[in-house]
Amino acid sequence: MSEGVRRARRFAAPVAAAAAAAVVTMVINPTLGASATAPQAASKGKAPAAKNVIFINGDGMGAAARQAARLHLAGMNGQLAMDKLPYSGQLTTEPDDPKAVVTDSAAAATAWATGEKTYNGAISVDVDGNPLATLGQQAKAAGKATGLVTTAQVTDASPAAFFSSTANRSAQDEIARQYIEVSKPDVILGGGEDWWLPAGTPGAFQDKPAEDTSEASKGTKGDLIKKAEKAGYTYVSSADELNRAKSGKLLGLFANEEMFQQRPEGQGDVYNPVVGLSTMTSKALSTLDKSKKGFFLMVEEEGVDEFAHSNNGARVLQSMQELEKSVAVARAYVATHPDTLLVVTGDHETGGLAVEEADAADESGDGISAEDGPFAIRGSDKSFYIDWTTSGHTAVDVPVTAAGPLADRFTGKHANTYVHDVLSEILATRR
Ligand SMILES: [Zn+2]
Repeated sequence: MSEGVRRARRFAAPVAAAAAAAVVTMVINPTLGASATAPQAASKGKAPAAKNVIFINGDGMGAAARQAARLHLAGMNGQLAMDKLPYSGQLTTEPDDPKAVVTDSAAAATAWATGEKTYNGAISVDVDGNPLATLGQQAKAAGKATGLVTTAQVTDASPAAFFSSTANRSAQDEIARQYIEVSKPDVILGGGEDWWLPAGTPGAFQDKPAEDTSEASKGTKGDLIKKAEKAGYTYVSSADELNRAKSGKLLGLFANEEMFQQRPEGQGDVYNPVVGLSTMTSKALSTLDKSKKGFFLMVEEEGVDEFAHSNNGARVLQSMQELEKSVAVARAYVATHPDTLLVVTGDHETGGLAVEEADAADESGDGISAEDGPFAIRGSDKSFYIDWTTSGHTAVDVPVTAAGPLADRFTGKHANTYVHDVLSEILATRR
């Protein structure tokens, strides 16, 4: 297929969908009679027009990770904040990759951000490497403010797919350059300072720190922090500076790479970010809230995925707890801003994590894949174990929960590209 045809199909799709919906309405209404249209019109009038989207990714978060966190943090009859969202469904996640069955974060986030399946490693380019229109840039074009918040590098695959296009996810300095020069998100908060500065310029976080001597500035695009400041961003690198930052464009880099050290238990594993995800989420919301035409905020907890790669159950639960706090912040915002769609999901499952009984006869595995636990169940004297199948990703469906306008669309089972189709109705539409 030629690029022209591909592009035409891409942009024609929402129009075709709208036309199809109109046809369905016309066909159905006469058979049901006039009374059938009245409640629909009334409920349409009551629902607030969608203006903002908060999209939260628990990277690597499948149903079992949510269950383990629910038992540990909320108890047997308890509910996580992310499970209190009124609409729930499932998403399939496989990429369009000649060599892979199981997705990586890049292909999965490209599906969300562009509505197109692509190969693992691709950041919002199609299977032939052509750049795709992203929700982040479309939201900007529609007059909305945009932001991304993550405990990974701000240029890591999941946020990158919403705000940049590259054939290879590892080109993180190029992704940073595109943020500052092309997509210009209003709020950028997370880790990954190493990609914003050239080798030999350590920045606020020293090169080769004791906790990971492989971390050092390695950008090839010049001093992108300086360029960001020239472009009007306030740059911060500590909790105190973040707290004091006034409104306006905001760049916060709080670690050389991820905002934690992902390792197996007792081998230097650390989850103690300079600023918690919930604090960053809160600051991002108060900043973006000033946009009259609304905003798009992408929030990501990366620790769920990274610690599952290390089969580290305790740190996965710790990351889930911070993610929960961030969902609670987002829910509180939605409670007072009913024009906001909130969606919580994961890009794929990691670890083949299973929640198990304590059972000495059951295989535990060896090395890092040995069972972890016992973990206490809140409000009970019972406990559970976490067992692992792999240190990679798996192909199981991921749960999605949602609240606010259009949230009911997330019932049922869909491909992950469906996230794009719903979000684009709010974000890629000029009002
Ligand atoms: Zn991963």
